[in-house]
Amino acid sequence: MKSLTGRVALVTGAGRGIGRAVAERFAADGASVVINDIDSESSQDAVEKITAEGGKASFIGGSVTSVEDASKIISETEMLYESLDILVNNAGVTRDSMFHRMTDEDWDFVVDVSLRGTFNMCRAASKLLRSSNRRADGSNRKVINMSSINGIYGTAGNSNYSAAKAGVIGLTRALAREWAPSGVNVNAVAPGYIAGTRLTSPRGPDDDMGIPSEILKDIESSIPIGRAGTPDDVAGVCAWLASVDSDYVCGQVVEVHGGMEIIQVKN
Ligand code: NAD
Repeated sequence: MKSLTGRVALVTGAGRGIGRAVAERFAADGASVVINDIDSESSQDAVEKITAEGGKASFIGGSVTSVEDASKIISETEMLYESLDILVNNAGVTRDSMFHRMTDEDWDFVVDVSLRGTFNMCRAASKLLRSSNRRADGSNRKVINMSSINGIYGTAGNSNYSAAKAGVIGLTRALAREWAPSGVNVNAVAPGYIAGTRLTSPRGPDDDMGIPSEILKDIESSIPIGRAGTPDDVAGVCAWLASVDSDYVCGQVVEVHGGMEIIQVKN
């Protein structure tokens, strides 16, 4: 038996990047995985790859920013698999600018996907996750919310993202207390610099996401462990938070940044 055999997992924003790595890891660990994303092409590709490798996966489209879509994503998951054991609220976007130049649209776009999206999905999934029909083996159900080190430490040039990701942590801790008695563990993951995703690709002149190349070099050289993170580094932590091994971990924020935010004391 693999660690997630018999479990149903839903990962939002799983067409590419970190979400995709999480979906692939969960499937390899035995879960039936629902891939949600607004990008159907990359998502279909993810489903095909997982299926070709012997895993179980389906695509359910829709935006986490829409209350109607959130409820449709959950009801279609229930129709397909009859239950939900693991919800990963991973969908996220950036729209960086210094605070004095930040527009209402930049603020709302980023907060809507990360924070409102996490709220929409948790509320829509509440009944299924907190079902009185507890798992037969007595293990807990899991919610994993994707925050960021920006939400803990703050970063110049992305106050919208830092605020949204800090909000995700507040939501995680409050919900952890509300849902723990129903056998649902709510935790967050706060990655540092995870290379190779759309959010961290070098930003071209016409891109609205990504990071300027000169800043990318500085970020990478500041990581004590000596390399950028990979989506698989984050997926491994999510696999642990989804498994029975973390059943006593509740309301925590797991930082995954290669030591990036450890204050260096020179002596
Ligand atoms: P990515 O852009 O590669 O992937 C994000 C996915 O979310 C995309 O497939 C996109 O289509 C999807 N998405 C966007 N809006 C959506 C919506 N409204 N509904 C459903 N899906 C939507 O980015 P990534 O780097 O893999 O980021 C994944 C998560 O990890 C985000 O929450 C991000 O904030 C967080 N994160 C990333 C890093 C990093 O260094 N890459 C660091 C910390 C946190």
